[in-house]
Amino acid sequence: MENKLNIAIYPGSFDPITNGHLDIISRSSKLFDKVIIGISKSSNSKDYLFSDEERLQLASNSTKHIDNVEPIVFDGLLVDFALKNNINVIIRGLRAFSDFESEFQMSLMNRKLNSEITTIFMMPHEKYTHISSSIVKEVFSLEGDISDYVSDPVLKALNLKYEK
Ligand code: ADP
Repeated sequence: MENKLNIAIYPGSFDPITNGHLDIISRSSKLFDKVIIGISKSSNSKDYLFSDEERLQLASNSTKHIDNVEPIVFDGLLVDFALKNNINVIIRGLRAFSDFESEFQMSLMNRKLNSEITTIFMMPHEKYTHISSSIVKEVFSLEGDISDYVSDPVLKALNLKYEK
């Protein structure tokens, strides 16, 4: 049998990383030799609340306990990045039916661009199916409690960002 490492990439904005993302990362880390958290580079600094470096640091600080996970910032076409780095799997999270249509389109397009790379969808624990980085930021900015939905480093970073 061919002895090839299975390296997966979990791409996204991670602005910031939430416990929903971390649930998918933890599940994936048990299935693949290595999981790369692919943080999409900001094309315009106003796009995101957190900078590339901050999103990278938060992903790294939130996954310290998992050995085979490595966050990186990437730019350009995902399948090209995957090909150059021997990545053969793309992981995406599915929260609800509403995620399905755009994910379906994207995965078929990626397969057309590179048929060697397979997209796998994973569902988080049901306690995270209703959360997104956007809703976490919105509730936090209105002074709601989001401590069940983000790691301690992310909570601290949000406090600093909003100067609470
Ligand atoms: P994008 O901008 O690509 O949607 P996100 O950072 O929002 O980036 O999400 C990255 C991936 O994580 C996507 O596949 C998204 O569906 C998934 N995801 C986001 N939030 C959750 C969650 N609460 N549970 C499971 N998967 C999630």
